[in-house]
Amino acid sequence: MAIIKANNLIKTYADPDSNGKKFNAVDGVSLSIHTGEIFGILGPNGAGKTTTLEMLEGLKDIDAGSASINSIDISKNPYKVKEFIGVQLQANEYFDNMTLSELLNLFSALYNKKNDSLSLLKKVNLTDKANSYANELSGGQKQRFSIACALVNDPLVLFLDEPTTGLDPQAKRSLWDLIMNLNNLGMTIILTTHNMEEAQNLCDRIAIMDYGKIIAEDTPRELISKHAPERQKEVVSGNMEDVFMALTGHGLRD
Ligand code: ADP
Repeated sequence: MAIIKANNLIKTYADPDSNGKKFNAVDGVSLSIHTGEIFGILGPNGAGKTTTLEMLEGLKDIDAGSASINSIDISKNPYKVKEFIGVQLQANEYFDNMTLSELLNLFSALYNKKNDSLSLLKKVNLTDKANSYANELSGGQKQRFSIACALVNDPLVLFLDEPTTGLDPQAKRSLWDLIMNLNNLGMTIILTTHNMEEAQNLCDRIAIMDYGKIIAEDTPRELISKHAPERQKEVVSGNMEDVFMALTGHGLRD
């Protein structure tokens, strides 16, 4: 069953390069994300991934098209939708003078939830940091803590915007494990990434996005066999990098 449905989503911005002209940062995106899947939106910087996510999270207005989560229309009921989604943003700032445990208790209280901070920290493997401050954490620990914050309201759907960008390989692996554990507990996860390996290893299905449009969507295995079959023969298995190149004719711009 689809828990997230998006139909022809459009977000229009003024183009900074041309006077007054507008462009569609998200240009007719339709998605159907099933309950219990890890769904990845893969694309280069500027493709429109974050903007798509922000519209689904109710953080940015949907200029045209429609979307629903758990059958609730996001434009009509943005506050209702926020009750059952968890959102991890690309960058987070926390109060410097509160411990992780105190911050989680505060966020739980804001949601009127009684989630125990230690059990939340346990989920993200940070119990030993309960009395630390956010500015004392490593990059990977910070990301895991921001996921704990996104879990305070027991969300059905967790949104992760480029969760592993900037992390070292070990921290990245540990975050992948965490994401898979949460998914095994039944949470639907939608994430954006420009990391081919992450999309291939972590996601049940991937939508490849370029210039505001979804240009392909399938399981990693099907994408490879459809778009990079030759590479598959050559090196035993092709990868998402080959698929992206075959579809767009270019690599990831950065
Ligand atoms: P991605 O997440 O794939 O890197 P974004 O969704 O952040 O892409 O951005 C898509 C496009 O929209 C980019 O060209 C970006 O510069 C532009 N954009 C994003 N936010 C704004 C904004 N608030 N005003 C104008 N342009 C924006």
